[in-house]
Amino acid sequence: MAHIDAGKTTTTERILYYTGRSYKIGEVHEGTATMDWMEQEQERGITITSAATTCFWRDHRINIIDTPGHVDFTIEVERSLRVLDGACTVFDGVAGVEPQSETVWRQADKYGVPRMCFVNKMDRVGADFYRCVQMIIDRLGANPVVLQLPIGIESDFVGVVDLVRMKSVVWKDESLGAEFVVGDIPADMKAKAEEYRHKLIESVVELDEAVLEAYLDGKVPDEATIKRLVRKGTIASTHIPVICGSAFKNKGVQLLLDAVVDFLPAPTDVPDVVGVKPDSDEPLSRKSSDDEPFSGLAFKIMTDPFVGSLTFVRIYSGVLAAGQQVLNTVKGDKERCGRMLQMHANHREDIKEARAGDIVALAGLKGTTTGDTLCDPANPIVLERMEFPEPVIEVAVEPKTKGDQEKMGMALNRLAQEDPSFRVSSDAESGQTIIKGMGELHLEIIVDRMKREFKVEANVGAPQVAYRETISKTIEQDYTHKKQTGGSGQFARVKIRFEPLPPGGGFEFENDVVGGAVPREFVPGVE
Ligand code: GDP
Repeated sequence: MAHIDAGKTTTTERILYYTGRSYKIGEVHEGTATMDWMEQEQERGITITSAATTCFWRDHRINIIDTPGHVDFTIEVERSLRVLDGACTVFDGVAGVEPQSETVWRQADKYGVPRMCFVNKMDRVGADFYRCVQMIIDRLGANPVVLQLPIGIESDFVGVVDLVRMKSVVWKDESLGAEFVVGDIPADMKAKAEEYRHKLIESVVELDEAVLEAYLDGKVPDEATIKRLVRKGTIASTHIPVICGSAFKNKGVQLLLDAVVDFLPAPTDVPDVVGVKPDSDEPLSRKSSDDEPFSGLAFKIMTDPFVGSLTFVRIYSGVLAAGQQVLNTVKGDKERCGRMLQMHANHREDIKEARAGDIVALAGLKGTTTGDTLCDPANPIVLERMEFPEPVIEVAVEPKTKGDQEKMGMALNRLAQEDPSFRVSSDAESGQTIIKGMGELHLEIIVDRMKREFKVEANVGAPQVAYRETISKTIEQDYTHKKQTGGSGQFARVKIRFEPLPPGGGFEFENDVVGGAVPREFVPGVE
């Protein structure tokens, strides 16, 4: 997870390359990134969908959900965070902690997702690892544990000092970074490495009484103990491991995968999922175990060009078999799941069975939408329902060709099914079709998809702010908002004032930001 442009897609690409599932490194700017499935994503060079991809590293299965970093798609990020066991936050080594990184960070806090940080782009002019670590403290209020130091800066960045092993790791450019050399720490970095190793040990020994006592008696913990403690602190979200590299220059990605395996929780480390009984709302918990009745959460619906509509499900308990009948407790209907697929970098694998902790794509579900619980019909449970904020912006649309009205209606309904933050309605007076979404770019993409996937071209009216909220006090707020539309990369400083509306005590939310809606998490006091 990260701010747009920090390098998530590039990092994911490299992960798929090194885990041996993707054989060609696709550069984002060339529009061949494997995770960017949709044509328009490639054209825009941003990742919109949370495609889930499976890869393997050191005998562990890792399911990757590439979360979008665009402000209009915060809702998608929330959906992914809800089903994640752990997250790797990617930062741009020059820009450090950016506004959108703060937003996603707070969302991850909300769902209690343990995380680590990868300070990317260490090869860029102006990259500063230490400043970025300081920003993690200052802006995110987090407790970083630095596990690596960069060797060389900017174009001379060659590798890292591994502070757990006290070794240097230097990547070979010729092998696209597939090979690296583990050696001694360069002489001019020894003192700094000692200083940071000391900080690392001081930070983690407190997590274990016995280790702390031994440390106070002069016994320095060994490598295995340090790793065990970093893992403990990470899972408890008291510590945030920080490593660095340059995905683009093929440096650091294997150690990132090592850190995922070593420090982020396995599904079995995650607390039992707690839901409710469908009719009584009585709490009901399920262990992340194959022996429990099946339960899972649908977190994403997307149309696959080859298989059709796919429902991505995170399995929390039990075992799900292809062809099995499941109960959707939110809709109150039984459904039969047809094919069950695992998505790899460049192929789809038909699987017969999926277990607690897995993420799978199900074909054949008709009535299930994002946020629904699927479970064993004999053991019904409703897992926490996902909450979707109201859309913030709306536009009127009409087909360019008059006869396309019905086709447009079908297309919009289909898209609304996939995306709960997108709504369709018709204006009672004018009869116009109104579409509502999370921002201008969001709606632009909907109109674009309508053209590409459903062959309906539409005229679009002027965007109107649709979002209205009741709040209880006067609020004045200054905030910096990166204007996202058009990718200008400019920052706008905006002051917003909310005032009581006489006489009813309500407040009208007025949004003067040109070219985008105010993300509501920037406004304190507004739930
Ligand atoms: P995302 O929006 O977070 O998915 O970011 P991308 O992976 O699309 O990267 C955004 C841009 O940064 C692309 O032009 C990448 O080629 C570039 N980029 C990614 N990683 C690095 C890096 O390590 N170093 C440099 N110099 N550029 C990078």
